[in-house]
Amino acid sequence: MTSRLYVVATPIGQLSDLSPRAAETLRRADVVAAEDTRVSRVLLRHVGSQARMIAAHEHNQRAAADAVLGHLQAGRSVALVSDAGTPAISDPGNLIVAAAHEAGFVVEPVPGPSAVIALLSAAGLSEGAFLFEGFLPARPRNRDARLEVVSAAADAAAALLVLYEAPHRIAGTLDALAARFGAERLVAIGRELTKTFEEIWRGPASEAPAWLGEKPERSRGEFVIAIDRCAPKAADEAGPAAPEVDRMLARLLDELPTSRAVKLAQEFTGLAHRELYARALALRGSAADGSAPDPDEAD
Ligand code: SAM
Repeated sequence: MTSRLYVVATPIGQLSDLSPRAAETLRRADVVAAEDTRVSRVLLRHVGSQARMIAAHEHNQRAAADAVLGHLQAGRSVALVSDAGTPAISDPGNLIVAAAHEAGFVVEPVPGPSAVIALLSAAGLSEGAFLFEGFLPARPRNRDARLEVVSAAADAAAALLVLYEAPHRIAGTLDALAARFGAERLVAIGRELTKTFEEIWRGPASEAPAWLGEKPERSRGEFVIAIDRCAPKAADEAGPAAPEVDRMLARLLDELPTSRAVKLAQEFTGLAHRELYARALALRGSAADGSAPDPDEAD
């Protein structure tokens, strides 16, 4: 193995989800940088790896990055792992990966399990873009404020929104989603994916708290939540464009001719071309203080 950094995905619940290449990489690495060495030691033992272990958790990432660079500079190969799933996805590791790139080392992913992808693949929600937020802030006020921001961004991009949640906060978060999205928005909740008590529930956001409350043991578990995109409105029922759509359109109009800006905004939002074009003309008009819109444009 050459001196390079391998970013190795590990199971999120089912040991046999460890890929043969991940096992081989852990066996052949000189050093394994692990979020929690006690957790990863079990895995290394399982695959028969003799690698030296170093700690790389969220509180020592700078020092861990220096240690990893030291090993790479000495010609050793390093495998980066987190406790479960893919490193650097709502897990530590990103700073180490960036440092390795910046120091000129090759970084090689060894892909595998990740809760976000596991749920999206099995949720059957709308295809296309998704906005992965990971964990919302812990404090309810901050959580609700952030939820406003990310759900508006997801709506403006006609994207699904994907969240991670911990057992002690799931009830509060599902209440917040019910309040924000009501009965109209479909959500999919993946609980304990790949584990014995795996469940995938789909239903309106308003019914998610009741689903959680049906069984007290349900709150114990790991959760990933996907909120479906808002349904694109038909041209004849479209109301006035939301302020975030106007903001996005105004930004596009700063850089592009009207027709191109409208086309991109239509791709991002799923809104009707006619409505977006009218908004674009209104925005151009107000920006130019009444002058003719976009004079050098052919459309
Ligand atoms: N890096 C991991 C990944 O690639 O999915 C995520 C790590 S993050 C610290 C842990 C969170 O991921 C959990 O709180 C939960 O929201 C989600 N998660 C991890 N394993 C899960 C599972 N088996 N089922 C559902 N969600 C899971």
